[in-house]
Amino acid sequence: MSGNTVRTEAIRAINDYTFETTIDFKNSSSIDLFGDNVFSISIMKKRLPKEIFKKVNKTMEEGTRLDASVADVVASAMKDWALDNGATHYAHVFFPLTGLTAEKHDSFLMPDLAGNAMAEFSGSTLIQGEPDASSFPNGGLRETFEARGYTAWDVTSPAYIMENPNGATLCIPTAFVSWTGEALDKKTPILRSMQALNIQAQRILKLFGDDSGKMVNATCGAEQEYFLIDRNFVSARPDLLATGRSLFGAPAPKGQEFDDHYFGAIPDRVLAYMCEVERELCKLGIPVKTRHNEVAPSQFELAPVFETANLATDHQQLVMVTLRKIAKKYGMSCLLHEKPFSGINGSGKHVNYSFGNATQGNLLDPGETPHENAQFLVFTAAIIRAVHKHAKLLRAVVATAGNDHRLGANEAPPAIISIFLGDQLSDVFGQIQNGDATSSKGGGTLNIGVDSLPNLPKDAGDRNRTSPFAFTGNRFEFRAVGSAQSVSGPLVAMNTIFSESIDYVATELEKRTGGDGAKLNDAVKEVIKEIMDAHGDVIFNGDGYTDAWQEEAARRGLPNLKTTPDSLPCLVDDDIVEIFSKYGVLSRKELESRMEIYLEQYILKIAVEARISIKMADTQIYPAAVAHQTMLADNCLKLRELGLTCDDESLTHITELSSKLREASKHLKAVMAHKSEETLAEATHCCEEIIPAMEALRTVADSIEEMVADDLWPLPTYQEMLFMK
Ligand code: ADP
Ligand code: MG
Repeated sequence: MSGNTVRTEAIRAINDYTFETTIDFKNSSSIDLFGDNVFSISIMKKRLPKEIFKKVNKTMEEGTRLDASVADVVASAMKDWALDNGATHYAHVFFPLTGLTAEKHDSFLMPDLAGNAMAEFSGSTLIQGEPDASSFPNGGLRETFEARGYTAWDVTSPAYIMENPNGATLCIPTAFVSWTGEALDKKTPILRSMQALNIQAQRILKLFGDDSGKMVNATCGAEQEYFLIDRNFVSARPDLLATGRSLFGAPAPKGQEFDDHYFGAIPDRVLAYMCEVERELCKLGIPVKTRHNEVAPSQFELAPVFETANLATDHQQLVMVTLRKIAKKYGMSCLLHEKPFSGINGSGKHVNYSFGNATQGNLLDPGETPHENAQFLVFTAAIIRAVHKHAKLLRAVVATAGNDHRLGANEAPPAIISIFLGDQLSDVFGQIQNGDATSSKGGGTLNIGVDSLPNLPKDAGDRNRTSPFAFTGNRFEFRAVGSAQSVSGPLVAMNTIFSESIDYVATELEKRTGGDGAKLNDAVKEVIKEIMDAHGDVIFNGDGYTDAWQEEAARRGLPNLKTTPDSLPCLVDDDIVEIFSKYGVLSRKELESRMEIYLEQYILKIAVEARISIKMADTQIYPAAVAHQTMLADNCLKLRELGLTCDDESLTHITELSSKLREASKHLKAVMAHKSEETLAEATHCCEEIIPAMEALRTVADSIEEMVADDLWPLPTYQEMLFMK
């Protein structure tokens, strides 16, 4: 009966917990700190010779290649700035396909013969690094004897300083490629896909008279949902520690049914935590804007102001790192898993997406009267076409072991990829499909019915929280992305399929107008009508959580891929390979390696979950069941000694459950013993055999939890973890 002590000690520790904070927020607000640790444009302007600054700035704005001759000067200025800010080391930061952030630190230190040391950092060290790539997954792209990998400085994402309690490191965002030039990371394809999108979007802009050539950038604002759970509880739960989700746990008597958490007052400890997270992110130049409680108990959200897709992706990684790191200081664990608690809402990452340029701003802004905004309609039609044509790809890029829990269930967007356009745009596109668009439904104003309150302008389109891909006023929101995922995959997919679709539309318009601007309007109407006829089925404004939609979507022929092994193989479908190659984003080999790695990740995750399940069932839950059984049996014996009858139903019940638990654990071990040669077959085995076996084990364990004496139960319960702070 040792298990209960860990749990009760955890509860005691939480009751006694107080956090200390040393932040002098009155004298240094997070807004004042913004960008302090970033080698930003304004710092470069101050520290670089004029000519050099101009060259670097041009590279950043236009995506041109950096002149190697300027690198030494930049490196030297960067080093001086870093030293002034207490840095002793530098690191090329890169983003391997595991979805994590990788860094190797080197000191600036260079000893001389006289026994002294100086700080050194050359242009070539800035531009290129060579980490040993053999420890990162490559999906068959290279043999271990060809372990070389290179990191190349991404000039469009500024260097920054990461502080730790005893020092600081200059971090240089880089792309990571094999020595044959294949992408081994998440950044390289983002940069390639942004380039492709720019080229294609320029053609449309030109047709509509904008030949400024100003770079069209994809933009992204990623909302991050997460759970905060006291570390004492997490330490007492091997499942949360090792997998980030609870593999066992009976439902809490009080769950989220009151909807009393969403937007509720933020608890003090959490708010103090959020403030510190925001300060750290602000220092790194990450524009954190929004914070609030989410729907589930102990669930929260953070959202930044959007940035260009590449920068937003790097910043998103830093957001995840920082959320996790600071949580420890406040005695909590930040769980980024998509489904830490079954029966309680999971976490997503809503990827808000648009594109724009310096002359026109956001190109997906419909304005007041979208029916008159032909350029906007053209871009949006291209997106509708792309999402319909490549729904499977959009499903594949959000396919992970964790996210399957959301997309398969009826709580997050369903696995069916559809577009929500809202009333106004659906109406405009409908009008074009039926002839001509002559009006736009207005939003109007909302009268609150109180004289002292102003009338509020009403948005022309309402929100739809069930759609995986929703138009939200001036951008699309890809809501199916998992909370623990890098946003890179989804952004690369969107950029690439939109490039293909914009290319198609531009080509059609160019063909039909033959350069004659007067014909443009008719050509636009024709092309949009054709797109709506062929692809309009992807538009769905209703409730995506219903069974009726599952049936309707099937009738419309929309794919409904429920699991990761169902959806990942489409990464190497011929049409996908073709467009990714055509726009220079990923080659067939690179796509194959990605599919392989993501399947491996899936298999590894499920295998760890299964092993932890077995361990917990055998060494924690079974002993608790036996202890409870023994207690009831002892009681029966005593009663009989006293001449009383004992027909304790719960003794029979716990005896049955204990043996069922044994059986279920044995079955899980048996299916775990199986090994397939092929990665896809192994992933399918995980999905079809191992996961159901784990679920069966859990069902028995959760029934045991519901009947074992509270003081014999070793694991912190859902009630405790979710509601004690
Ligand atoms: P909600 O939770 O209501 O969807 P939030 O304010 O939490 O809204 O998040 C909206 C996100 O969309 C923010 O990160 C915001 O910066 C981002 N966003 C706004 N405009 C654009 C745009 N043009 N491109 C990309 N993201 C955008
Ligand atoms: Mg949102």
